[in-house]
Amino acid sequence: MTAPEKSVEQRIDQLHADGIIDLHFDMPMDLYEKRDRTNVLATDFLPELETGNVSLLGAAIYIEDRYLPEMGLRVALDQISRLHTEAEGSGRFAICKSYPEIQAARETGKIAFLITMEGVEPLGTDLNQLRVFYELGVRAIGLTHARTNSAGHGGVFAASGSPAEGLTPFGREVVRECEALGVIIDLAHINPAGLEEILSITTKPPIVSHTNVRRYYDIERNISDEQIRMVGERRGVIGVNSILVSPREEESTLGHYIDHIEHVAKLIGIDSVGIGFDFFEFIYREWPESRQKELAAKFTTPHFIPDLTNHSHARNLTRRLIERGFSDADIEKILRGNWLRIFKETLNG
Ligand SMILES: [Zn+2]
Repeated sequence: MTAPEKSVEQRIDQLHADGIIDLHFDMPMDLYEKRDRTNVLATDFLPELETGNVSLLGAAIYIEDRYLPEMGLRVALDQISRLHTEAEGSGRFAICKSYPEIQAARETGKIAFLITMEGVEPLGTDLNQLRVFYELGVRAIGLTHARTNSAGHGGVFAASGSPAEGLTPFGREVVRECEALGVIIDLAHINPAGLEEILSITTKPPIVSHTNVRRYYDIERNISDEQIRMVGERRGVIGVNSILVSPREEESTLGHYIDHIEHVAKLIGIDSVGIGFDFFEFIYREWPESRQKELAAKFTTPHFIPDLTNHSHARNLTRRLIERGFSDADIEKILRGNWLRIFKETLNG
């Protein structure tokens, strides 16, 4: 190894020493599907998380269409149960509900989970269920996935086409109650009218846990320049997604992932960019071809970035940020600092 190479690796070591934060990971649904096994976290996830120095994950409760509507609540509860059992069993994870708990997890060398909810289907139309999920540890909620539910409408995987209306009365109640409880509002997936409405009835900094910029992949599900500015004005943070970097496979590269980071930073500053990798390949590759085709027909064919498909690849991102000329202070903000600010400012307790 030559001297300059060594210094880059040392810089990565230093930048990763305090851990990196990925605010969107669909792991609870995988734990649920593998509920006949034990130690799934320790065997299937921990090695990659440790290699990438991950210190906090947004663990997303998401309910697939095939469980809706009847099984939505039950599957959500089971996903949280699996998360608790697996976290305890491994001794290497901590489910955190507040900023001090996140700090304590770091100090004891545990990987923190912040439980998030991607779509409020488990709540049905019952606001009381929100309080239950809050007590179970849910600390960030996005009202919808890419579909309509009792709270609102998701943005579509096309340049336009979602309903022109924003939230339902129930959706507005959920948003107000989230702000009162100290649950972070996640704008990922919501349709444009819904995004605007949420910002008009909230005051705390919003997040977009996982998205890409429409400048490079122009679908409603991603975020427009105007929306980016709206989030920036409120000192929110946008987590850059790794699976909708480009509609074209050949452009789905680590370099182009960083173009998304740069675009957000150029519009609203480096203090508003974070990571929401949305790593999904581990689930996708286990699906039969028929199910992969169904996903392509309904949404899009995901193009996974070859050297950014799981958490063990986090060092590749940091290396490339260094090569692109980002300062250590800016990289630290992207890797964890900006998300930590959001936790400090929005979680109660
Ligand atoms: Zn998503």
